Amino acid sequence: MTMVGFFENKLNIFRAIKFQIMKFTTLYFFLFLIIFAACKTNQLTGNKSYNFISNKQLFPMAFDQYDTFLKDHEVITNTRESEQIKTIGKRIAAAAQKYFDYKGAPDFLKDYAWEYNLVKDELVNAWWMPGGKIVFYTGILPIAQNADGVAVIMGHEVAHALAEHGGQRMSAGLTQQGLGLLLNKTTEKQPEKKRKAILAAYGVGATVGVMLPFSRKHETEADKIGLELAAIAVYDVSEAPKLWKRMQELGGPKKPEILSTHPANQTRIDNLTEWGPSAIALAKKIN
Ligand SMILES: [Zn+2]
Repeated sequence: MTMVGFFENKLNIFRAIKFQIMKFTTLYFFLFLIIFAACKTNQLTGNKSYNFISNKQLFPMAFDQYDTFLKDHEVITNTRESEQIKTIGKRIAAAAQKYFDYKGAPDFLKDYAWEYNLVKDELVNAWWMPGGKIVFYTGILPIAQNADGVAVIMGHEVAHALAEHGGQRMSAGLTQQGLGLLLNKTTEKQPEKKRKAILAAYGVGATVGVMLPFSRKHETEADKIGLELAAIAVYDVSEAPKLWKRMQELGGPKKPEILSTHPANQTRIDNLTEWGPSAIALAKKIN
C-alpha cells in the first residue's frame, strides 16, 4: 500500500465513522426534540407523560372509529341492561366533572362527547376510546354481576380516557415506528445477518421494554383513578377486588378477552383492596 493509499483508506474509514456518528447524532437529536416537546402534565394524574397528539387531533379520529364500530355491531337499546350501562356511565362522568371542578380544571372535559353503549357479544370485554366513548359487551355483565361491578369497570375505562392514555399510546407507537424506520435506514449498509439481528433486537426491546410496562403502568393508573371515580359516584368500591377475582377465576380456555389487555394478577387485587379507603376519603372531600 502506498502512503497516499494508506491515508485515503484511513480517511475513508474516518469518513464512514463520522457519517455513522452524524446519523446517530441526528437520531438522538430527533429523540431529544420529540421527548422534550411532547412531555406534558396530565391534569388528572399530575404526571408528566409523553404525548405529542392533541385531543383536537385525536378525538375526531376516535369518534369516527367509534361510530363505524357501532354501525358494524349489534347495539342493544331499551333493555334494563343497556339502560343500566347508560345510567352508570352518566354517574361516572358526573363524578369526573366533580373531580375536575375540585382540581380547579372545570373545562378539562369540554371536548368530551360521552357515550356508553352495550353491544351484543359473548366476549368478556369492555373498552374505551379517547373523548369518552365506552363499549360494554353483554359477555362481561355476568362477571360484573351488579351495579357496583359495572361501576368499577366503567370507572376504569373512563379513567383511561381521562388520563389521556390514547394520545400517549399513539405517541409511543408512532415514535416506535419512526425509530424503527430510522434504525432501518442507519443499518442499511450493515451485512444482512447483523442488520436483521439489530432490527430484531430493537423490535423485541421496543415491545417488551417500552410498550408492555407502559400499558401495565396505564392499567394501574386506570385502576386507581377508576376506583376514585366510582367512590365519588357513590358506588361500593369494595366490589373492585371481588370483580377482578371473578375475572381471574374465569381464566383457562374461557380466558376473558379483557385479560389480554388487563392482566388480573394478585398485585392488582391487593392494590384495589388497599386503595379502597383512600378513594372513599377523597369522595367524602369532593361530595
Ligand atoms: Zn384498562
